[in-house]
Amino acid sequence: MSREKNAEKGKNREKGKGFVAEFKKFIMRGNVMDMAVGVIVGGAFTSIVTSLNQDLLTPILGIFGGTDFSGLKLKMGSGENAPVLYYGNFITAVINFLITALVIFLLLKGINAVTSRFHHEEAAPAAPTTKKCPFCKSEIAIDATRCPHCTSQLEEIQQDA
Ligand SMILES: [Zn+2]
Repeated sequence: MSREKNAEKGKNREKGKGFVAEFKKFIMRGNVMDMAVGVIVGGAFTSIVTSLNQDLLTPILGIFGGTDFSGLKLKMGSGENAPVLYYGNFITAVINFLITALVIFLLLKGINAVTSRFHHEEAAPAAPTTKKCPFCKSEIAIDATRCPHCTSQLEEIQQDA
């Protein structure tokens, strides 16, 4: 009886261990951590974009006629319970979305330009240092004149090519 109980306990413990291990595996999966970082950075990034939008772009756009449509509304019918369409708020939301999308687009464009230049600089010095011997197809030094694997003379071949 007690042995059975112990066996059951062991089984349960194994089950728990499996769960913990699985959870650990799930957390340790690179993309989960990347995602967490992405969400946190994205949250911080959102406040920057919002501030740029509200504190800088909206006042600038305000010079050219303004972007405040919150006063625009349309009353459907008459009476106290008549529905009111605040389409001005909707226009403001659409404009805010477009400005935010434009800002993100420009930011990503800038980041892409910087990273592609970075990659270019990184890739440039990575010139090939090895070549394939035409006889035995071994990887050998690029300036070798004789293959160290099959001892074939390579100079003439190189000159022909
Ligand atoms: Zn060779």
